[in-house]
Amino acid sequence: MIILGIESTCDETAAALVEDGRHLLSNVISTSVKEQALYGGVVPEIASRRHCEFISATVKKALLDAGKTIDDVDAVAVTFAPGLIGAVLVGVNFAKGLAYSANKPLVPVHHLRGHIAALYLTHPELKPPFLCLVASGGHSHIVEVQDYTHYHILGHTVDDAAGEAFDKVARTLGLPYPGGPSVANAAKTGNPKAYRLPVPHVDGKYNVSFSGLKTAVLNEVNKAQMKGEEVNVPDLAASFQDRIAGILAEKLLLAAADTGAKQVCLAGGVAANGRLRQLVNDGAQKLGAKVYLPELKFCGDNGAMIAAQGYYQYIAGHTAGLELNGLPTLPIDYE
Ligand code: ATP
Ligand code: MG
Ligand code: FE
Repeated sequence: MIILGIESTCDETAAALVEDGRHLLSNVISTSVKEQALYGGVVPEIASRRHCEFISATVKKALLDAGKTIDDVDAVAVTFAPGLIGAVLVGVNFAKGLAYSANKPLVPVHHLRGHIAALYLTHPELKPPFLCLVASGGHSHIVEVQDYTHYHILGHTVDDAAGEAFDKVARTLGLPYPGGPSVANAAKTGNPKAYRLPVPHVDGKYNVSFSGLKTAVLNEVNKAQMKGEEVNVPDLAASFQDRIAGILAEKLLLAAADTGAKQVCLAGGVAANGRLRQLVNDGAQKLGAKVYLPELKFCGDNGAMIAAQGYYQYIAGHTAGLELNGLPTLPIDYE
């Protein structure tokens, strides 16, 4: 069964063809990230306009690259929530028009379920149940993936998402957007023990909090400035990265130990972080759990993850009518 996946929740306009939820046939990503970088973050209005310009050619190329036509596609899957609403609506409306004109089923996909499904493309042997940390630009969840369409949230951030913290710290340090890759890059030559950053206290055993950590980085910059000095950017980047990756890994591994998870996974944009991958790998091995990490190209937003999850939503019977709407927010465990 071939699913076309369409994604447009942030600054990536993406489309892909995936067979049976596991086998990648094509994967096309158009992005306005360079334009967004001029503003130090995503400007929603610009994202929507670029989606509108890019989406037809992106879907066309996904079909072409796979050597397929729309007639070969069994269903059109699209991210309908959560995301920047003006951006989401471009993808949703395009998918509706395509499903209507080609007479194909329409499958709504939750963006974070898609991030998790990226793991199925990298690891054909991975099957639920598994424990997953989904850490991205807007979310940080520790989730039990009970089966392909059922989830149980164990913990979440009480303030900033992990990716958001990377993005804001990058800005504080004068590093370019998106902050995750630029902080990681600066950290390569830094000493992670140079700055003593706090471990934020948070209620809820598996919850995380990054707002205080972000402020602590800003305080270091201000403290140095008041002395007429400058912070050492690689050192502060490395200290921050070590701390945030340490907190995320610790909470995930604590949840893994408590629930006796045999399979531990990472998903979302922050899953690309090398330090986090290393810590989770090492820690899970000590617990005797198997670790599954997404390929780097499937960590950020893409259409393949939406097509992969679209397959599982479709075979579970979750299709939508042409009245489908987009939503800015929706919990991952929605029914
Ligand atoms: P959401 O998925 O919550 O709706 P989003 O789609 O904007 O948000 P993603 O595309 O999944 O987020 O991930 C982007 C985020 O990942 C950004 O905040 C970016 O800084 C972060 N990120 C990307 N690469 C890395 C990295 N190597 N280390 C840390 N963070 C990273
Ligand atoms: Mg993006
Ligand atoms: Fe995302």
